[in-house]
Amino acid sequence: MSKITVLDDNTINQIAAGEVIERPAAVVKELVENAIDAGANAITVEIKEGGISFIRITDNGSGIEEEDMPLVFLRHSTSKIRTAEDLLRVTSLGFRGEALSSIAAISQVELVTKTSESFTGLRYLIAGGEEKSLEYIGCPNGTTFIIRNLFYNTPARKKFLKSPVTEAGYIGDLMERLAVSHPDISFKFINNGQIKLHTAGNNNLKDIIYNVYGRDITANLLLTESSNEQISIEGYIAKPLVSRGNRNYENYYINGRYVKSSLISKAIEEAYRPFIMLHRYPFTSLHIRIKSELIDVNVHPAKLEIRFKNGEELYQLLYHTIKSTLEGKEMIPAVHLTE
Ligand code: ADP
Ligand code: MG
Repeated sequence: MSKITVLDDNTINQIAAGEVIERPAAVVKELVENAIDAGANAITVEIKEGGISFIRITDNGSGIEEEDMPLVFLRHSTSKIRTAEDLLRVTSLGFRGEALSSIAAISQVELVTKTSESFTGLRYLIAGGEEKSLEYIGCPNGTTFIIRNLFYNTPARKKFLKSPVTEAGYIGDLMERLAVSHPDISFKFINNGQIKLHTAGNNNLKDIIYNVYGRDITANLLLTESSNEQISIEGYIAKPLVSRGNRNYENYYINGRYVKSSLISKAIEEAYRPFIMLHRYPFTSLHIRIKSELIDVNVHPAKLEIRFKNGEELYQLLYHTIKSTLEGKEMIPAVHLTE
């Protein structure tokens, strides 16, 4: 007798959810990225109990058309790419069409959406991967997702969650990174009814840095920018007197995406090396734009890493840009921020 069976869709989605959605912050990341991809310029995230019992994400983006509703929660359904070739020049944050099917497999989802062309909105309920209802409803243009009771049908996964306070902390950190990565979008983050973050969305990066990191860092920023035909760099770096014992303040965004890259970190740290003590790391908030054909974002499950076709060129440009910004300024002896 054959021992091998092909798994049913719901089981496949639960397995996939294990890879993509490991905690409430991952839900928030995926849904906010969808809102950004939908062209929203105002995004509100509201959570209760660290996002475990309740996450609501509201955007004023494109909305979802009625014809697309049956496809939204299917695995590998996406409006962002059509062929494998499109993977070579992804300009959106999402492209795998996995997030919504994964989230719907392990929670109770309510989706309310309306496009500017349609007269009425839609409300769709799906739980544990099974559609519950679809109805017409009056609502503003844009999309709201409510995710209730994450992992309610996968108790083993739920056990691995940390306390609501810790999970809320992860979401707070994520919201800060998202806000800095998109200064042109107004973000609001509400935790248990309290507004924790609210950015203006007026494209002023320094305002957001002040909002997120506070006065000490904002008072010590240096503007840095440069570009060539392929790459542009724009953002702020802090004077070396602002340093930390870890890399948490070494932030950079590639085409609006928060990533980790040993190449970029190395370029930054080499440029700072003459000015900063060993095992201390600088504050940076750099927006790097690279032609989409020159990067591969499809190399990491959470898209946290990226591959560069022109790594050496990027390294050199970054290193020299930061170095000359630092050399242009008067150096002051180091004081150390608390961790
Ligand atoms: P991906 O982002 O990789 O395309 P998702 O599963 O996250 O996959 O989303 C599936 C599709 O649902 C998206 O391609 C998009 O067309 C639609 N969608 C999801 N969220 C939104 C939103 N907030 N506004 C408009 N459309 C959305
Ligand atoms: Mg997505």
